[in-house]
Amino acid sequence: MKTESPISQRSTLLGPIPDAEAPKDCALCPRLAEFREEVRAEFPDWWNAPVPAFGDPDASLAIIGLAPGKHGAHRTGRPFTGDYAGDLLYATLAKFGLSQGTYDSRADDGMELRNAVILNAVKCLPPQNKPTPAEIKSCQPFLTDALDALPQVRVFIALGSIAHQSLVRMMGGKQAAYKFGHMAEHVLPDGRILIDSYHCSRYNTNTKRLTPEMFEAVFARAGSILAA
Ligand code: SF4
Repeated sequence: MKTESPISQRSTLLGPIPDAEAPKDCALCPRLAEFREEVRAEFPDWWNAPVPAFGDPDASLAIIGLAPGKHGAHRTGRPFTGDYAGDLLYATLAKFGLSQGTYDSRADDGMELRNAVILNAVKCLPPQNKPTPAEIKSCQPFLTDALDALPQVRVFIALGSIAHQSLVRMMGGKQAAYKFGHMAEHVLPDGRILIDSYHCSRYNTNTKRLTPEMFEAVFARAGSILAA
């Protein structure tokens, strides 16, 4: 594996929809901003900022995650890049022809997505990977702006219940009518499709709550909807 690029060389990493991104010093969530500074003090050469979207600005498929992982996106500056969850997600995207190039756990590995884009419900690293309801709500306008800037999206895959809830709320749906479940499929109020998946975390895969085959089934279903 190559040495990680210094932050100065990666500061142009703004993702496919730069006008919809949070400022790098966003402080709307005081707890997360404080935690960001704590981590920055310990690891000054990490990304240490809200993580931008990654992928194709003309994507038909949007994958919504929870929040950056400490040693993954918060370190590298690209969603799901550098930790176990990314290994499974990017291997699955490659298998379904949704990426080109080789994923190498680095934001500058040259890998690109095709017809897919990845976003997080919360753009900053939360302690213990657990954002509060207030933090999820605070970051929702950025998710709204991002999806407004991605008008070709027709199918969403929500990785985990928080991503599911955030998207349903953003779309104006009533939570009671949209129950989260792996492979659950929903028609959102605007007619677009949401497919739920268990999050591709190391915990979920180690416990077999989510197997690679179960994860691939979600993407196969999304592909069949988009091809119809
Ligand atoms: S999580 Fe979102 S709203 Fe909160 S500080 Fe980060 S970018 Fe700002």
